[in-house]
Amino acid sequence: MNKPHKQIIEGSIKVTFWGVHGTLTVPGQKTLRYGGNTPCVSLQFPGDTLVILDGGSGIKELSNHLLSEGRVITKATILISHPHWDHINGLPFFAPLYPRGNTFNIWGPANSGISMRKLIAGQMDGVYFPINIKEFGARISFRDLGEEQFAIDAITIRTMFLNHPGQCLGYRLNYGGRSICYVTDNEMYPESNRLYSKTYINKLADFVADTDVLITDCTYTDEEYEEKIGWGHSSVKQVVELADRARVKILYLYHHDLDQTDDDIDDKLKVAQALLEKRGSSTICIAPKEGEFFDV
Ligand SMILES: [Zn+2]
Ligand SMILES: [Zn+2]
Repeated sequence: MNKPHKQIIEGSIKVTFWGVHGTLTVPGQKTLRYGGNTPCVSLQFPGDTLVILDGGSGIKELSNHLLSEGRVITKATILISHPHWDHINGLPFFAPLYPRGNTFNIWGPANSGISMRKLIAGQMDGVYFPINIKEFGARISFRDLGEEQFAIDAITIRTMFLNHPGQCLGYRLNYGGRSICYVTDNEMYPESNRLYSKTYINKLADFVADTDVLITDCTYTDEEYEEKIGWGHSSVKQVVELADRARVKILYLYHHDLDQTDDDIDDKLKVAQALLEKRGSSTICIAPKEGEFFDV
């Protein structure tokens, strides 16, 4: 008898988490349940369109998964939020970039006038990594993105600059009446702070409004955030407020602080769920684990 498995809904988008921690990979006993890899999420659309969100160390797990399935990828789009290490460091270990015949888009924001191509090539310059970007056998199209709208097959994608050091983009992918928002890394500031911007919060709430899925930076507990204001990340209370206000259907807590253990993440989830209940919110909150997938 076959092992029972989650039924894949016909025509659904399969959202798989390959790394949920932020900033640094944190392997060890304290991160066994949620995993210690850095940001990477894959979106498998019907019709074989694959979109990969960020290339943190989690992308190595995705690479292994694709190879284990014996799957020959011919094309995929990798959308990079921003070039901080935890979002691009896994790219050289993504095996499908090496064989000839594959086609990839690697798109994301330029930073300090440095193009996405140069940003990715920079970490593979022979000094920081022995293999040069020229070793990629796949045909790769690099593109610098700003705030814009574009399409990949039947998917419409919108972008928005987030509040984070450097240029960082959030993505909203619409497909067949469903939507997935990927908003990391991002800071919202408390109203008491001089950097708080009502305009920005309103714009962000509009950007994620009524989405089926919001995968977002929830790096800190509310207590930790008090000590980390200005570091470019969000706390539990803030993401709950955003998700509830924007009528998000499912909120996924993501990009956990490097010092947080599995138990700490459990606690953040409990706090978020209690806050949502207190607000009488219909938003469901999940803390996804590495390797876990959801059909949307
Ligand atoms: Zn990050
Ligand atoms: Zn960052």
